[in-house]
Amino acid sequence: MSSLFPTYQRFDIHVEEAQGTKLIDNKGNEYLDFISGIAVCNVGHRHPDVQKAVEEQLNKVWHVSNLFHQSIQEDVAGKLVEHSNGDAVFFCNSGAEANEAAIKLARKYTQKHKIITFTKSFHGRTFATMTATGQAKIHDGFGPLVNEFVYVPYNDEEALKQEMDDSVAAIMVEVIQGEGGVVPGTEAFLLTIQELCKKHEALFIVDEVQTGIGRTGKPFAYQHFNVSPDIITAAKGLGSGMPVGAMIGKGYLKDAFGPGTHGTTFGGNPIALASAKATLNIIFNEAFLAEVTEKSLYFTNALKNSIADYSFVTDVRGKGFMIGIECGEHQSALLAAMREKGLLALGAGPHVVRLLPPLTVTKEELDQAIHIIEEAFSQTKITS
Ligand SMILES: *Cc1c(COP(=O)(O)O)cnc(C)c1O
Repeated sequence: MSSLFPTYQRFDIHVEEAQGTKLIDNKGNEYLDFISGIAVCNVGHRHPDVQKAVEEQLNKVWHVSNLFHQSIQEDVAGKLVEHSNGDAVFFCNSGAEANEAAIKLARKYTQKHKIITFTKSFHGRTFATMTATGQAKIHDGFGPLVNEFVYVPYNDEEALKQEMDDSVAAIMVEVIQGEGGVVPGTEAFLLTIQELCKKHEALFIVDEVQTGIGRTGKPFAYQHFNVSPDIITAAKGLGSGMPVGAMIGKGYLKDAFGPGTHGTTFGGNPIALASAKATLNIIFNEAFLAEVTEKSLYFTNALKNSIADYSFVTDVRGKGFMIGIECGEHQSALLAAMREKGLLALGAGPHVVRLLPPLTVTKEELDQAIHIIEEAFSQTKITS
C-alpha cells in the first residue's frame, strides 16, 4: 500500500539512478530517457558541471531568505536578462509560481482584471494558473475558478480580435503548446497578440516554462519570431532538476512589484540557483545551441523518413528537441512498445507522442532511438 496521494498515473518503473541520457531502474534495466523529467534535464541527468556547482554551494550556504542580498541571484538574473529581452527577474520555485507572478504583476501594473489565454493551453495547477489553463479536465471539480479568464482558440487571430478590448490586462500564451499536443504557434498569430496588446494597453506574457532554456534551439522559443513580449516565464529546464522558476519582465514593470507586493520563502534559493547558473553557462552558448539545432534536424528528418509511411501518422512537428508525432488512437500502444524496448517518451494530449530528449543527447543515442521507434511502429501496425 502506498502512503502517497494517487495524483499521478505512474509507469511501472522504479528509478534507481540516472546519468546523461540514461535512466536505470531497480532491476538494472537501462532506458534512453527522451522525457528528461518533462523538459527539465536539458543538459542530461547529473551533468558534471552542474553537479560540481551544487556540491560547491552546499559547502557555502543553503538558505538565508530574501531578507539578505545574495550575489548568485544577480548572477543568474543577469544571465537571463542578457539572453532575453527582459530587464528584471523574480525567482520562485516552479512554472506555476512563475505564471502566478506574471498574472499578479499584469493585474497590478495595468489595474485591469481580464486575462485571455487559449484552449488546450497549460499554465499550471495553482488556482490562477489552473484557471488560465484552457482545459476543462484540469478545472473539473475545483470551481469556482478565479474570475475573468477567457479562452480563445489557439492560432485563431479572428477569434482573438473578437475577444480583445481595453478591459484586458494580459494575453498569456505558449509559443508552442506543450501539454496541448506540441502545437506550434504561427508568426501571424503571435504578431497579432503583440499588436492587440499594444493597442489595448495589455501585457503580452509568454509562458516559456516548457519551451525555454534551449529546448527549441534558442534560449527562449519566442526568439524564433519577430516579437518582444512584456513578460516571459521559465522553470522546468532552468535548474536541471533543482526546483527553480523565474518571471522575467521589462524594466517599466519594476515599480509595480515594489517591496512587500509579492514574495516566496524559497524563491532564489542558492542551491537551486547554483544549479541554474551552471546550467545556463552550458546552454546559453551559441555553439551549444547550434549543435542542438543541427542534431534536432538530423533526428526529426530521420524520424519522418522512418514513420511517414504509416497511414495513422498524420503529422511530425515541433521545434528543436520538442517534437510531437500525431498518431491518433495508437498513442498509448506506441508509448508502451517504445518503453518495453528501452525508450522513454511521453504523451501530449490524447493523440500525440512527445519526444523531449536531453539537449546533450549524442548522435548514437538518437540513432538508437530511431531504431526503437521503427520497431515499435512496425509492431503496432501488425496488431492494429
Ligand atoms: C509544466 C508547465 C507549467 C507548470 O510548471 P510546474 O513547475 O509544474 O508548476 C506551466 N506552463 C507550461 C507551459 C508547462 O509546460
